[in-house]
Amino acid sequence: MQQSGFQIEHCRSNCPKSARDWHNLYELLSTKLTSLNLVETLKDKFNPIMYHHLPKVCLAGCPNGCSQPNIKDFGISGYVTPQITAAPCIGCNACVRSCLEMAITCQADGIIIDKNRCLSCGDCQGVCPSGTLIAGESGWTLRVGGRVGRHPQFAKSAGQVQTDEEAVAWVSQTMLGYIEDGRPEERLTHFLERQKTLNLE
Ligand code: SF4
Ligand code: SF4
Ligand code: SF4
Repeated sequence: MQQSGFQIEHCRSNCPKSARDWHNLYELLSTKLTSLNLVETLKDKFNPIMYHHLPKVCLAGCPNGCSQPNIKDFGISGYVTPQITAAPCIGCNACVRSCLEMAITCQADGIIIDKNRCLSCGDCQGVCPSGTLIAGESGWTLRVGGRVGRHPQFAKSAGQVQTDEEAVAWVSQTMLGYIEDGRPEERLTHFLERQKTLNLE
């Protein structure tokens, strides 16, 4: 959906795969970006303002990224990490079968999760009958600087936050820096490259 001076896209509502509900974040972001009055503010940089000048934010409920957060200025994807509890594992292998990343190994004394493989997608966390494997910390994975067009590039990792408010603050602070220091005709991703913001990975 295109709002005044920005665009926020999102993936499917109420998807059963969702690791994090994006609806509240969507509302908070809409309010914050509206308050920046970008149509007026960006007139200092672009005349006329074209569609590709407007910042694009993309929300996805899980690392599957169906709404394509990797090619937007700001990509925000939900995550939920698996947590192993003290409840005894009964060795049913349900969690092993559920993990597309083959990150879980079931052994005689319980399971092991390879953190280097795990995407924190949450797929394994609803299948455990013993309560050994449950949902742990959840939040948002942040990516910045993706674009299509003449010089396409994937967004780069910008870390993770746990709250909706932190995600909004990250977008807002980035935009305020761009409004303050972006040069005439300089698009957001080019500004971020000049600021070395995209050297985060
Ligand atoms: S990104 Fe995840 S939560 Fe959103 S529609 Fe795709 S699978 Fe569902
Ligand atoms: S959260 Fe996803 S990737 Fe990580 S172990 Fe569970 S199913 Fe595998
Ligand atoms: S689903 Fe639960 S009980 Fe079954 S192997 Fe995994 S951790 Fe153990």
